[in-house]
Amino acid sequence: MSCQNFYFNDARDGLNWRTRLVFRSFMKYKSTRGQVADLGFSDALLMGLASDGGLLVPENIPDVRPELEHWRDLNFVELAQELIPKFIDDIDSQILRGLISESYASFSHADVVALQDLDGISVLELFHGPTLAFKDVALQLLGKLFEHVLGERGQRLNILGATSGDTGSAAIDGVRGQKNIDIFIMYPKGRVSPLQELQMTTVADDNVHCIELDGSFDDCQNIMKTVFADAHYKATHQLGAVNSVNWARVLAQIVYYGYASLRSSADATFCVPTGNFGNVFAAYLAQRMGFPIAHLLVATNDNDILARFFATGVYARGEVHQTLSPAMDIQVASNFERFLYYHFDRDSDRLVAFMQEFTATGSASIGAPPNTQLMSSVAVNTEQTLAAMRDVNQQFQYVLDPHTAVGYHAARKHLDEMSKGTDIVVVATAHPAKFPDAVQEATGFEPTHPTLEALKGLDMHRTALPCDIGAVKTYLVEKLQMAREA
Ligand SMILES: *Cc1c(COP(=O)(O)O)cnc(C)c1O
Repeated sequence: MSCQNFYFNDARDGLNWRTRLVFRSFMKYKSTRGQVADLGFSDALLMGLASDGGLLVPENIPDVRPELEHWRDLNFVELAQELIPKFIDDIDSQILRGLISESYASFSHADVVALQDLDGISVLELFHGPTLAFKDVALQLLGKLFEHVLGERGQRLNILGATSGDTGSAAIDGVRGQKNIDIFIMYPKGRVSPLQELQMTTVADDNVHCIELDGSFDDCQNIMKTVFADAHYKATHQLGAVNSVNWARVLAQIVYYGYASLRSSADATFCVPTGNFGNVFAAYLAQRMGFPIAHLLVATNDNDILARFFATGVYARGEVHQTLSPAMDIQVASNFERFLYYHFDRDSDRLVAFMQEFTATGSASIGAPPNTQLMSSVAVNTEQTLAAMRDVNQQFQYVLDPHTAVGYHAARKHLDEMSKGTDIVVVATAHPAKFPDAVQEATGFEPTHPTLEALKGLDMHRTALPCDIGAVKTYLVEKLQMAREA
C-alpha cells in the first residue's frame, strides 16, 4: 500500500493528523514467536534473529496488483527501487533508491539477472554478482543498508559468521572496506573448496578476517552459536550475524521473482534449489504480494526433509548427506519457520508449540499432508543431478552448476507430470565455474570464469586457529583492539 493510499483513506475516514502520523510509519516487523513486535525496518535489519528466538516478518504484506501494469516495463534496478521501499519506511526514499542502484552496480550483467530459454524451461541466472552466487543479490544490498544505518546511528557492527562455502565470500564482499564493520568468517580447514577459500581469503581489506578453523563446519557453527549465546560478550563487542534469517536478505530476493514473473507469458512456476528455504520463501512472499505466480517447486538434494514434509506433513530431522550441491546439504531449514507461521495463519502459539516439539524430539507434524496446490517439493539424487548437467550441456550447450541441476531435474519431472503446459523458471543459484569438479564429472570439461581465474596466485589472508571457543574469542578481541587503535 502506498502512502498516497493511506492519506486517501485517512481523509475518507476523517482521521486527525495525529492518527495519520501513527499510520505514516506503517511498515513494522514482528517475530513469528509473538514476543517481539513494532520494530522499524532498521531495527529489524540490525536484530537479524528475533530476540525471542523467532524470525522477523512484516506485520502486513503489501498488495502490489494495482502496480503490476506499470512495473512490467521496469528493468531490475527500477523494479527493486519500487518494490523494496514498500517494506522500509525509516530510510529516506532518495537515499534508499541510491543504495539500491549502488548495490547492483557490482553485477556484470547489464540487467543484473538474466533469463535463458531452454525449450520450455527458463533459467533465471542470479549469479552475475561479484562472488558468482545468488547470495550476492541480497548481500550486496545488505552491506549498503548496514553501512547507511550504522553511519546514521554512529554505531559499529562486528559480524561473526561460519561458512561451508558460498555465504562467507558473498558476505565478505558485501561489507569489505566499510569503516563501521569488521567481519570474521570461520571456515573448516580443508573442507571448503580451494576456489571458495580463494574467494574469501584473497580479499585484502583490513576489516575482513578469515579464520581457518581446525574442525568441521558443525564445529564452526557451534562456536558461533556459543559466542552469540554469551549475551555480555555479544553486547560488549557489538556482534551481529548476516545469516540467511536476516529479513533484509529475504526482501532483496523478492525482487527477482517479481521481475521474472512479469516476463512470463502465463502465471509462472518457479523451481528453487533449496537449502535454508530463504530463497523460496521470497518467492512465496512475491506470490502473496500479488505477482502472477502459479506454483513453487522446492527442489532438494538427498537432504530431503522438505520433500518429506510436503508429502506427509511431518517435519522430521534426518542425517546430513554430503552431495554435489553442498549449499543445500542442510537438514533443518532455518527460514522454514517463516513459512510455517503463515501456514498456521500467523498463530504464534501454534508455531511455538510446533517448534518446541521439533526441538525436543527432532520431529513435528502439522497433522496431515499440506495442500500442495501452491507449493510442492521434489528430492533429486546425485545420479539425476549429474544426468541433468550432462543432458543440458548436450542438448543446449548450456552448463548448469550442480545446485541449479537439482532444480532443472525437478522442473523436467514436474513438466512431464503436468497435463497442461506451464511456464517454468528454474532459479540458477551459482555459476558452474564455482563447482568445477562436479561439472567435470558430468560433462568431461572444467568450466572457468575470469573472476575466479584472476584470484589464482593472489596472497591469501587467513589465520589458523584451533577448534576452541576461547581461541576464537581472544582473536576477535585482539583484532578489534587493533582496529580501534588504527
Ligand atoms: C545458499 C545456496 C542455495 C540454498 O539457498 P537457500 O536460500 O538456503 O534455500 C542454493 N544454491 C546455492 C548455490 C547457494 O549458495
